[in-house]
Amino acid sequence: MTDSQSVRDGAAPAGVWAAPGRVNLIGEHTDYNDGFVLPVALPQAARAAVRLRTDGLLRLHSEQVDGGPVELTVADLAPGSVDGWAKYPAAVVWTLRAAGYEVGGADVRIDSSVPTGAGLSSSAAIECVVATAYNDLHGLGLDGPALARLAQRAENEFVGVPCGIMDQMASVCCTEGNALFLDTRDLAQRQVPLDLAGAGLRLLVVDTRVKHDLADGAYAELRAGCERAAALLGLPALRDLDPAGLDTALDRLPADLRPLVRHVVTENARVREAVTHLYLGDPAALGPILTAGHASLRDDYEVSCPETDLAVDTAVAAGALGARMTGGGFGGSVIALTAADTLDAVAAAVTSAFTDAGYEAPRTFTAVPAAGARRVE
Ligand code: ADP
Ligand code: MG
Repeated sequence: MTDSQSVRDGAAPAGVWAAPGRVNLIGEHTDYNDGFVLPVALPQAARAAVRLRTDGLLRLHSEQVDGGPVELTVADLAPGSVDGWAKYPAAVVWTLRAAGYEVGGADVRIDSSVPTGAGLSSSAAIECVVATAYNDLHGLGLDGPALARLAQRAENEFVGVPCGIMDQMASVCCTEGNALFLDTRDLAQRQVPLDLAGAGLRLLVVDTRVKHDLADGAYAELRAGCERAAALLGLPALRDLDPAGLDTALDRLPADLRPLVRHVVTENARVREAVTHLYLGDPAALGPILTAGHASLRDDYEVSCPETDLAVDTAVAAGALGARMTGGGFGGSVIALTAADTLDAVAAAVTSAFTDAGYEAPRTFTAVPAAGARRVE
């Protein structure tokens, strides 16, 4: 037997996978209300080189984190047992095992171009790249929605973040050139063509580089408020409230819950309206929908912040067709829909407004609808 043969025969299953971050065009804070969302995958993605191990160890390395690999014993994984960034990939391995799949350890080297904590879903990219790699290497046969549900469960139960399903579905199920119109209740999905270039448009992303501490606690509180409102209205979820009955429903609720309900109901309607415009081949019509969505997040849901408001207002004043924060809020990123020839002026206006306000310069880039999770090597 030659050396190369022995390496081949004895080689552990291995490969390289990628899973993207996302921006959400419209449909914010609707996913945990069983509502609609319209995310787009970014070219920025988490890549993971993964090689299975047979000794029960999970060795995790990230190019974005200083220090050597984190070494964990798969059999000892339990919610609360892992600190820091390693809990995201470890969560997926724990969840697979909790779901009854007999998977073990691996060497995992992660290198992600998704900015972290920028509202662009770097966490779901990590979860989904590991879930997809394990699915392929172990031949588990899980489809996209099953992988996304698994990754969401990992974030909910192991990481401890009560997130909805949007980020994981976007990372797994988005396809190049399309937005993903998703019903988060039953995961029914449609790929909606988003030919921005063909319409002479661009989608500018402004990462404000701020993340206010409020973010985590407020998210859980908002989610609980929505669930309380649905229960008071006798509905399974706020998704089930017919917009025609909104005013009557609001009268039946305590004052503090009314704006939450108004946001969710009007936001679901905005998603459907946006999808109709995309099917009509009129992406420019999304502009005012984005700006209306931002006003709703700012005034009703109260999850915007001075930095995102400044980016939105400045972008619109500089000629963007519309703009809004994307992601959970309290910082993170803003998207602005612009004509191709005003893109640079809008980006420059936002950057100089930040300088004038004494904020750190934002990071700006153009989003192009990219592919979901896949094997790359
Ligand atoms: P978002 O998903 O919006 O980027 P989150 O707070 O949900 O923000 O997730 C960010 C966390 O995900 C980071 O704090 C880190 O723990 C983990 N993470 C994301 N990308 C990486 C990476 N490249 N390497 C290691 N950990 C990462
Ligand atoms: Mg996240």
